[in-house]
Amino acid sequence: MESHDAVVIGSGPAGAVAARALLDAGAKVLMLDVGRTLEPERAAAAARLAAREPEQWAPGEAAALAGEARTDAKRPKLVFGSDYAYAGPREARVVQDGTNVLVSHARGGLSTVWGAALAPNPAAEFDGWPFGREALEPHYDAVAALVGATTQARPSDRARRLLSRHKESAAALAGRGFTSEPARLALDLERCRNVGLCLTGCPYGAVWSSERLLDSLKSRPGFAYEAGVRVRRLKDGAVEAEGRSFRAPKVYLAAGALASARIAAESLGLYDKPLPMLYQPYFLAPFLATGGGGDPEAERLHTLAQVFLGLSDPAVSKRRVHLQLYTYSAHIRTAVDDALGPLGRLVPGARRALLSRLCAVQGYLHSEEGGTLWMTLRAAADGGPAEVRLTAPPAGKRKAAVQRVLRALLAARRELGGVVLSPLARHGLPGDGSHVGGTFPMAARPVGPQTDALGRLAGLPGVHLVDGACLPSIPATTFTFTVMANARRIAAESVR
Ligand SMILES: Cc1cc2nc3c(=O)[nH]c(=O)nc-3n(C[C@H](O)[C@H](O)[C@H](O)COP(=O)(O)OP(=O)(O)OC[C@H]3O[C@@H](n4cnc5c(N)ncnc54)[C@H](O)[C@@H]3O)c2cc1C
Repeated sequence: MESHDAVVIGSGPAGAVAARALLDAGAKVLMLDVGRTLEPERAAAAARLAAREPEQWAPGEAAALAGEARTDAKRPKLVFGSDYAYAGPREARVVQDGTNVLVSHARGGLSTVWGAALAPNPAAEFDGWPFGREALEPHYDAVAALVGATTQARPSDRARRLLSRHKESAAALAGRGFTSEPARLALDLERCRNVGLCLTGCPYGAVWSSERLLDSLKSRPGFAYEAGVRVRRLKDGAVEAEGRSFRAPKVYLAAGALASARIAAESLGLYDKPLPMLYQPYFLAPFLATGGGGDPEAERLHTLAQVFLGLSDPAVSKRRVHLQLYTYSAHIRTAVDDALGPLGRLVPGARRALLSRLCAVQGYLHSEEGGTLWMTLRAAADGGPAEVRLTAPPAGKRKAAVQRVLRALLAARRELGGVVLSPLARHGLPGDGSHVGGTFPMAARPVGPQTDALGRLAGLPGVHLVDGACLPSIPATTFTFTVMANARRIAAESVR
């Protein structure tokens, strides 16, 4: 069997970026992955759409493939109607007790369904990390180039109006602790056709996913990819996976924050011992913009985040809050049609007005505002991977924090150009939003279950955790940009 310098476990953003950095450093890399892919018939239908310009699509062809645009916390986004990106509770062996932490067994991981929003951690929020923002800066820059980060996506008509309103009211907004800027997205503007299918699967692949990076690695000498491999644990220098074992001097664990934590904990025999997991408290709320006009159903637009809002107000949170504004999408149309029912057909003008004004705001708070959720491993009776039980902390603290944010949004409605409909806000369960991690946090002088600055655990020589599982805290900004930058940093420094 060909020998490799490194084994990377997982093909999500953390694994793919780490593999790329290792290859760039001259290492020979074997990537092991469960690596589930989209059903062939759906992939074929998407390829048929991608082979033509949107104007040449048959009426209803794209909508038929996209399926119903309905939000479900356990399957927050489908790809061409498929939920292949998510491992079911039985397959993932996870029991959720008041939590909703997703596990992916897909090629490309959760980046097959992500919203591609990118923002670095604020420099002031690296306290408790074994390094500061400056150590990640070159890696943020390299990852931004790799994923095609841009703020130049064409804003929807509604977003353009909101952004200009925020510009006019910038001083008043700042007085309330708010900042506003066009969203930063991993979106390929050359591929993007503004067909509004970002949230149900883009036929043109304009939304970056680590699958694209993986495709580029496959042609690199020294890279091998093996799918259908579910790693169970790391033992005596070997990677064990359902009766198979792989060896390399270095192993990079990138199976996703929960799956990596489980593999590390099982490898260390940490059964029946609650381990901490951090999460960003999350909410989703309707936002009714002021001022009518426009016909979003006829508009060519993208449906990813349009505007990033930041909120720094000690009366709301000691930490910065991150908010993402979304305008019209098929999900919003479904919500409006559900709300209006048959009335929608009787008063089409009212329906159109609602469609043009109704937006959605997603809110993310610092992990400190949420309390700790606990993961406990139970050895499996059938000898398979250990079962994980996740237990949510009491809800009071995070709900109160979200309420403070909603009040601040309401107070700024004039400057923000719209009203957040707080009574309709959905408070996420711990794990919703999929920004979780921190079970084996990096520390300058690691003790107990902490890792060092290269994600190494005392009991597992040669093993580096490179995904969310090793983050010391989860500031309220987007999550994966930092995960990728840190994965690149660890990979590059660990082979220097
Ligand atoms: C709907 C949705 C929207 C999101 N939007 C955003 C956003 O806009 N911005 C943002 O920053 N983040 C977003 N996220 C979060 C983002 O998708 C994740 O943070 C990111 O994908 C984590 O990357 P990862 O590589 O650590 O793990 P994952 O993406 O989970 O990939 C894990 C990989 O490991 C493999 N694997 C798992 N277990 C095993 C095993 N036992 N053996 C072998 N292989 C294994 C899987 O097959 C997969 O390839 C979103 C998530 C969701 C669900």
